[in-house]
Amino acid sequence: MMRFEELKLIQPLLAAVQKQGYDVPTPIQAKAIPEVLAGHDVLGCAQTGTGKTAAFALPILQNLVEHPVAGAPRPIRVLVLTPTRELAAQVEESFKTYGANTSLRTAVLFGGVGQSPQVAALRAGVDVLVATPGRLLDLMNQGHVRLDRVGVFVLDEADRMLDMGFIHDIRRVAAALPRARQTLLFSATLLPEIRELAGFLLSRPVSVSVTPAATPVEAIAQRVHFVEKGDKPALLAHMLVEPGIFRALVFTRTKHGADKVVKCLARAGIQAAAIHGNKSQGKRERALDGFRDGSQRVLVATDIAARGLDVEDISAVFNYDLPHEPEVYVHRIGRTGRAGASGLAISFCASEERDDLRAIERLIHHRLPEAPLPAGVKPIPAPREVPGSRGQRPRSQQAQGNRPRGDRPQGSRPQAGRSQGRPPQGNRSRPSASQGQRRFSPTLQALRSRQKTENAQGFLGQDEPGPNPYRSATR
Ligand code: AMP
Repeated sequence: MMRFEELKLIQPLLAAVQKQGYDVPTPIQAKAIPEVLAGHDVLGCAQTGTGKTAAFALPILQNLVEHPVAGAPRPIRVLVLTPTRELAAQVEESFKTYGANTSLRTAVLFGGVGQSPQVAALRAGVDVLVATPGRLLDLMNQGHVRLDRVGVFVLDEADRMLDMGFIHDIRRVAAALPRARQTLLFSATLLPEIRELAGFLLSRPVSVSVTPAATPVEAIAQRVHFVEKGDKPALLAHMLVEPGIFRALVFTRTKHGADKVVKCLARAGIQAAAIHGNKSQGKRERALDGFRDGSQRVLVATDIAARGLDVEDISAVFNYDLPHEPEVYVHRIGRTGRAGASGLAISFCASEERDDLRAIERLIHHRLPEAPLPAGVKPIPAPREVPGSRGQRPRSQQAQGNRPRGDRPQGSRPQAGRSQGRPPQGNRSRPSASQGQRRFSPTLQALRSRQKTENAQGFLGQDEPGPNPYRSATR
């Protein structure tokens, strides 16, 4: 196993790493540190939780120490862009921690707080600036930030930045940077848009990636219910009242879907909160606080919103919609069964999700045990849509991604080889015929026909190829 000393890090950085208690570099650190030290552009495929911050912060700090600049105030030599203020604060904190034995200065810029302290920090001189795009551009426009001496540009969680609509901001910031620079781009996925962005920003990059651990935590009991989309609300409501499920995290693929689940559960007398990109920061924080302190028993989340969510004692994770990217499954279920506690991961698989299930099973090298559907599940009418609203678009159109602007679910993008050109489901479904109609209990069968109409009106009908926020399974 490699040691930090072998990465040729200087003593002040090694001491800082040692103080953190890190014994050995994580895989992304072992791969990226030498490349960044050598001045290469890097396209890194790694999620939060893999140690990627140190993978870029340590070699950047080392290069700064080894190439000091004279004059005052110091110019900004490193710019790190992050999608959210939480991540910006966290990344700046990491630079501070790892650079504690150097004289380098860091600052962080994000919105939602007064700008005066940030402007004062910039005036005093900063070596490493970590920022979210909005506030950075704001202060650039006011003439408080000069980026003409930046030698290293880091784009952290680039996929999430694109999901959040920051593409134009990124281009504007990049246009203000010197052309001769080192650029590092980290993303959890390397979907086509990311590659396109990388092609625009990076010059002959070295690619480094870490593949997530393929085996979910053994303490997690996993099972799958074969249930049609229309029956999912009833099934979920039924399961949430099972004893032992005191804190449940429910994943949906779309923001719209998360809201619908909350509404359906409310009709069944179960209070739940949703977190996703359309919720204000305040609402998200309140929902999370409630979930943490136990006053909110059920949290419904999209993958992007649930990133970084670290809550102890989640008794069950529900994959209400199966993710299109199998690694996301591993990430999701890693939220339960933390710290040696046993956990439960329950997946709902509708007929059109069988390919997703198969991909998950291939990744985890394990066939998910199938659980029977409970009897006596009561129907929960799905909320009705206003005619002509988004949900009524034919599914075929949604799958081809030709929705009007602004009507795409969070993180959605047309994906070659997924919805497009997919062979008929029947061709690739599981071998057993019993997994068709016969799987559904009579109660649920009855429910199905009743809710089909409502489904056509938009209940969780959209595919959302979310990014792959695999975070903690490598921890
Ligand atoms: P990150 O992916 O950068 O958000 O890092 C995830 C967590 O891993 C952070 O809490 C770091 O403190 C921790 N970490 C980073 N590098 C190492 C390492 N080499 N050994 C142990 N923990 C680490």
